[in-house]
This record gives sequence, C-alpha cells and structure tokens, in this order.
Amino acid sequence: MVDVFAKCRLPEAYQFVKDLGVYPYYRAVGERPGEGEVVIDGRVLVQAGSNDYLGLSGDERVKEAAVEATRRLGTGTGGSRLSNGSLTLHEELEARLAAFLGREAVMVTSAGYLANLALAALIGPGDTVIGDRLVHACLIDAVRVGGARLRRYRHNDMDHLERLLDAGDPGAGRLIVTEGMFSTSGSVCALPGIAKLARAYGARVVMDSAHDVGLLGANGRGAAEEQGLENAVDLQTITFSKALGTLGGAVAGRAEIIAYLRHYARSMVFTAALPPACAAAALAALEIIAAEPERRHRLRATAERLSGDLAAMGYAVAPSDRPVIAVPVGDDLLCFRLWRELFDEGVFTTAMISPGVPPGQALIRVSITATHTDAQVERIVSAFAAARDRLRLFSDA
Ligand code: PMP
Repeated sequence: MVDVFAKCRLPEAYQFVKDLGVYPYYRAVGERPGEGEVVIDGRVLVQAGSNDYLGLSGDERVKEAAVEATRRLGTGTGGSRLSNGSLTLHEELEARLAAFLGREAVMVTSAGYLANLALAALIGPGDTVIGDRLVHACLIDAVRVGGARLRRYRHNDMDHLERLLDAGDPGAGRLIVTEGMFSTSGSVCALPGIAKLARAYGARVVMDSAHDVGLLGANGRGAAEEQGLENAVDLQTITFSKALGTLGGAVAGRAEIIAYLRHYARSMVFTAALPPACAAAALAALEIIAAEPERRHRLRATAERLSGDLAAMGYAVAPSDRPVIAVPVGDDLLCFRLWRELFDEGVFTTAMISPGVPPGQALIRVSITATHTDAQVERIVSAFAAARDRLRLFSDA
C-alpha cells in the first residue's frame, strides 16, 4: 500500500537553508506603519516586494469604499455568481471594467488565478496552447485543466513561436498566451510579432495583464494599449491584487465569449462570488487610476532611477521604467543569501527560484510602488550596495 502522505517531507535543502537563516518565504508582516513600510519580527523594513504598485490597498478612499460595502452588503456573498452570489455591485464593476478596458464584456472572478483558470473552458485535447516560457503558473494550470497540448517558446522569441506554430497540426485550435508585462522579468511582450503570427496561423491571443493594467498605456489599460495593438488581443485577463490593491480578477473580451465562460468556466461556476469589500475596493481603485495618472508616472520615474542605480553598482539590471526590477543571481543559495543581506539592511524583497523562474535563473525581484518616498528608494540603493560588498559580488570583475 502506498500512503499518499508519505511524500510530505521537505527536502534536506530546506532545513539547510533554514539553519543558515536565509529562508525567505512565509515571512509574516505584523503591521504596516506607513506607506511602503512593513513590520516583520518587530523591525520596520521598506516593502520592496509588493505588487500593490499604486499603493491603493492603503488608500483611504479605497478602504472607505470597502468598509461601506461591507456595512451595506456583509462580509461574504454566500454562493457562486451562477446561483445566488451575484450582486448588482459585481455587475456595476463589470460594466465599469468593460468601459475602462474598451472591451465588449467582462466577467469578474474571485481571484486573478481563477480568471486565468477560466480559460480551461476554451481549450480541450484537440487544441494546442503556445505560451511564452515565462508565463505565470495559472496559465499553465488552465492548459492542464482543459487537457490541451502545451508548447512553450523562448521568452519573446518570435522565430521560436513561428517554428512551433509551423510544426503544429493545422487542424488544431491554437491559442497563444503571453503576459503583458512579465511578472518575473519586468519585460514587456513582443505583441507586434505575436499579432502578425496569430493572424498568419489563425491563432487566438490571450494576454494576462496582471502586472500592466493600471500601469502601462496612456490610460492605464496595459501593455497592449501602450503598443497600440489592443485589437490583436482576443481576451485580456487581469487581477485586482496588484495595481487595484485588493483581491479578485476578470476576463475581458467579446460578449459571446464572456457569456460562454460565465456558464462553462469551472473556476467561475464552482466557487463563491467576490466579497462586496473587494468589489467596491476595485471600483474605487479604478476611479483613482483614471483620475490620477500621476501615480503611474511617479512609479515609472522611480523605477528608472532605481534600475539605473543598481546597474551602475554592477548588478546585471537593464535600466528601465518598468515597475518590476529583476536582479539576476543564478544560483538559488546565493539568491537566498542576497535576500537575507537586504533583509538585514531593512529592505524586504522577493527571492525567486524554480519553479517561479526557470531552473538556474534565481533572481531578486524588486517592485516599485507609486508611494515609495525618495528616502525609501535611497535605502533600497544602499542595501544593495552593502549586500554587494559583504557578499563580494562582482569582485572578480
Ligand atoms: N497572473 C500573473 C502574471 C500573476 O503574477 C499572478 C499572481 N502573482 C496571477 C495571475 C494571479 O493573480 P491573483 O494573485 O490575483 O490570484
């Protein structure tokens, strides 16, 4: 007899890393004393790992909207959207999102993960999904749940994408999946190439705008707006957990596709509807994103400055105004040690190893938020300088 629980032992490497004191995960934040700051183990650190890019999760207007909706409608929805959990507040949010994104229709889900998982309803064993090597795990999970064939092309490599399209069965349905701005690298997708190939091979295109909605494009509609190619994207998925500062997700596209998903997407039908607090917070955040473009402008200026400073220090960072700065390290253990040095210097970043990134490409992810002050950015810069010296990084250069 095999006990399915028998595998539940963490590898020795886990204990080794714990004993070294460099284990970076599940570090619990106690308080948030001010914008861009967190208290961990009683120490105040600069939060440099959050996806709350516009700082809206702490905005008084957003918090007030969540409180008001909770008072009026309660803390939960009591059921799935399909049965008895739908609120007019959800419908209001869907209409507002459709107008904001310039799409015919929108379906709101209870998390960004579930918005991407909903794509499983569109793909089956006869279909092929061709995804960028760096797309997020939930897009891969959608392919698994749908049972389609998965092929992956090298990051933003259009020749590779074309070869995979060329080699595929012309009779199969084809879906190209990409992120708008990639969460682990901060790079933006090569949409002109994708659009051209999708047209040539009759493929549909899904863009996960989790990290670019609210941030990129003249109106904050994301990477496709920035590249002037919104029509090339058939379905856009977003999450509320990043620029919108709360929890939830959405799929946006043509009305008939969204209506189909509302009935066939299992991640929509079989889970409870988004709580009123999150729906109201998302609505309030959308208003702020539309009315205060200076937030994303400030964020981009800060990112440009910080990435430039890190590059000047010797880190292999390409100077850019994208809110995610990926600092490549390579080796997992060195990545954890760098993470710990930064932590000791009072800066809370994210250490990413496989499967979050490809094996051997561990990195420190720094995310910039619109509310970071100049002093906080200074602290991040000096933490990286101190860590570089203590770990003797680039000393052979
Ligand atoms: N897509 C991408 C690219 C993400 O990075 C994430 C979350 N990290 C998600 C989707 C899932 O979003 P959520 O956390 O809102 O479920």
